[in-house]
Amino acid sequence: MGSGKHARNVEVFHTHGQYPSRALISRAAFEHNLSRARDLAGLAEVMAVIKADAYGHGSVQIAQWAMDAGVRWFGIAQLAEAMDVRREIGDEPHILALIAEPGASFSQAIELGIDLTVSSQTALDEIARAGAENGLAARVHLEVDTGMARGGVQLDQVPSIAQSLADYQDGGLVEVVGLWSHLACADDPDSPVTEHQVELFEQARAFVAEAGLNPPFVHLAASAGLLWHPQTHYTMVRPGIMLYGLSPNPSVATASDLGLEPVMQLDATVVSVRDVPQGTGVSYGHTAHTTTAAHLATVPLGYADGIPRSASNNAQVLAAGGKTPIMGRVCMDQFVIEAPDIHPGDVVTLFGGEPNMPTADEWAQQSGTIGYEIVTRIGVRVPREYIDHDADTGLDEAMSDAAWAA
Ligand SMILES: *Cc1c(COP(=O)(O)O)cnc(C)c1O
Repeated sequence: MGSGKHARNVEVFHTHGQYPSRALISRAAFEHNLSRARDLAGLAEVMAVIKADAYGHGSVQIAQWAMDAGVRWFGIAQLAEAMDVRREIGDEPHILALIAEPGASFSQAIELGIDLTVSSQTALDEIARAGAENGLAARVHLEVDTGMARGGVQLDQVPSIAQSLADYQDGGLVEVVGLWSHLACADDPDSPVTEHQVELFEQARAFVAEAGLNPPFVHLAASAGLLWHPQTHYTMVRPGIMLYGLSPNPSVATASDLGLEPVMQLDATVVSVRDVPQGTGVSYGHTAHTTTAAHLATVPLGYADGIPRSASNNAQVLAAGGKTPIMGRVCMDQFVIEAPDIHPGDVVTLFGGEPNMPTADEWAQQSGTIGYEIVTRIGVRVPREYIDHDADTGLDEAMSDAAWAA
């Protein structure tokens, strides 16, 4: 699997073809966004963030595409995710687990060559013990809290933990590969918080240097830092959302302003239609009534599939060539739309990247959330279908089939 051009359609479900909806995942769009990220990163290494199943796009296939394009670093949130992905994508790329909870299977992670985040002295001691048991130096990145108040060592503790890292490194139990922190307000280019975090990060870097350490990978920027704060790039950047073609903050710049292409298109097949008179109450609670005689269609996706209930009577879908809003409440498995010329079996698009389609960012705005939440919550009943280059251009596919036949 992997680099083969027919590697699309990874089968997650035995009944794959029988589900009434699908998320189409575009390789061309992903590669385009990756190259945007690389252009902005310049000499800094790009760590592709593939946590939460690559923001709902499928971490194994996304990692394969990224590796084919030369990406050598992946960031992922939990240790278990990191180990699962490692088993699928082989030993070659570096994988950093951004979170390490006490009592995690550090020993197994070290054997699998996972880079570990050190965010406390306790975690470091556990990691070093696991390194000793394995007879391997654990590859570690020190995380410093410069203003998220979420993870990482607080600044006043950096000197002592840096000393401890240096001692463990001398003893062959750890290899200090990285130093990192995370920005709280990078998606607001005018916030003074980012500059303050950079200052604290510089202090942390100085403490680490005083302990005699010189980690080659220093990283602070996620997508927003990469896009809007060049002074945060250091030697590695950690973009996530922009690789999937969404903006970290559409009110600053939309995905299209940023030259990004949405990677996911969410489609569903209409299950049924009905003609109803004016004044018909629609869906639970009758929060909407038809204002004229109307033709209604039922779309088989609901909040169990990640369609926000707060999108009720609000977010739009592309149906029968036009945009039309969800009518009434989103149910667990279905919602209703009004569209004059639609039939059972027709495909509607909830969001995607073509100019006539609603976008995930618009869905987010209409549901009171962010694009990150829209794509990451698309559920397990929505098979992901991977669209490789050939599928994008019927011509290429036809030509390669002809070449094969000849
Ligand atoms: C999620 C995350 C990222 C990626 O963030 P985006 O905004 O999606 O680019 C990078 N670093 C850390 C620590 C994260 O938690």
